Amino acid sequence: MHIKRLIGINGGTFDPIHFGHLRPALEVLTALHLDEMRFIPVYQPVHRDSPSATAQQRCDMVRLAIQSQPKFQLDTIEIDRGGPSYMVDTLLSLKQKMPDATLVLMMGTDAFAKFHRWHDWQGILTLANIVVTHRPGEPLPNDGEVGKILRTHWVETLSEDHGQIIDLPITQLDLSATALRDYLKKGEPVDYLMPQSVADYIRQHQLYQ
Ligand code: ATP
Repeated sequence: MHIKRLIGINGGTFDPIHFGHLRPALEVLTALHLDEMRFIPVYQPVHRDSPSATAQQRCDMVRLAIQSQPKFQLDTIEIDRGGPSYMVDTLLSLKQKMPDATLVLMMGTDAFAKFHRWHDWQGILTLANIVVTHRPGEPLPNDGEVGKILRTHWVETLSEDHGQIIDLPITQLDLSATALRDYLKKGEPVDYLMPQSVADYIRQHQLYQ
């Protein structure tokens, strides 16, 4: 494969961002020798409830969380576009802006388990490769439509510009934004589960109470 710029895509609600987003992103960046990892906060999720914090607040928290890692970038493409956030549209815009880049979409096994229901998932695989990171309690799917997608596209090492799926064992952190919002609702601290700057921001802006 002609080596192009390798860009990781880390989409999420980031409501709020936590170490379960950050550490996997760093491990993917390192394992796949990516040139950068883009954090793309969703504007309007298609398959779940709307976020609790505003788009601006979620971006502020991502910015604070990634500021010490020069290869991590915030990309507000879905927020700027507005409307329902379809990943295929995002990848298409990125590919048009950066034809020299190979895009690697990262997602945990929980997200991948529903990949067959994503809008135009076939289109996604014509624009990007996918790295599925293992998440606690969520094995790689074997059965059904998504199991078939995995078997058809799975490779041991990425060698093409798009259409390939690999899986990556990573340090397992049993954390979710839902659990963090529950702590905050009960008035319990979330320190040491996310960068201190983000915990401070949440406290200062009295989020998720
Ligand atoms: P929520 O609890 O609100 O659903 P979340 O913490 O699961 O949020 P999102 O902000 O929706 O995360 O981000 C989704 C992406 O981040 C998915 O690809 C998901 O698999 C991944 N992710 C989130 N938490 C972890 C974790 N602890 N370990 C590995 N991947 C994670």
